[in-house]
Amino acid sequence: MTLFAGMPGSSGSIEVVCGPMFSGKTEELIRRVKRAQIARQKVQIFKPAIDNRYHETEVVSHSSLSIEATPVNTSVEILQKVYDSTRVVAIDEVQFFDENISVVVEKLARRGIRVIMAGLDQDFMGKPFGPMANLLAIADSVLKIQAICTVCGAPASKTFRKNPKQQEQVLVGETDLYEARCRAHADFFGEDQDQLAFFVNLNESRSKTQNL
Ligand SMILES: [Zn+2]
Repeated sequence: MTLFAGMPGSSGSIEVVCGPMFSGKTEELIRRVKRAQIARQKVQIFKPAIDNRYHETEVVSHSSLSIEATPVNTSVEILQKVYDSTRVVAIDEVQFFDENISVVVEKLARRGIRVIMAGLDQDFMGKPFGPMANLLAIADSVLKIQAICTVCGAPASKTFRKNPKQQEQVLVGETDLYEARCRAHADFFGEDQDQLAFFVNLNESRSKTQNL
């Protein structure tokens, strides 16, 4: 019988915590990690090397909670660095990883490991961020959390880039660059607006036809 890294009989699991910036995703990741550590499970934490906003080798939440993390450049590096004795793998800012990340976490889960990830579900244009759509699809459990809209105080699901002229999807920053916004106050200019105009026109012409 092969002994897996996880609990006897455990099949491993994939958990995703997602939402916009400033919604407390990293805090939730840290909370889950700390509980696993209290249960004396061996935990390894990874983060993309790109995210050095606060610290090279720590995961730090906006409210300054922190845990040690290993920065990695590619998702495959995670696979190479996980020890046989590890029971829980946590990955922060998972949206910055390459598409192979879903294969990597499936492999880890198959080894009996509990994988916990936190990341932005949408980019500043409201589109699925990098590998997140795939990760959300293969996850066993998903927690989608909201921040607070900086304009009206409503629950916010969107990350708003203050300067829309900066077009690159990955632009690492903080409150200097981003705000959490509700749907009504996240004005993503561009093709969505055109599409919306198209559907509005379509509806108008339909109701005109009905009135004839
Ligand atoms: Zn709002």
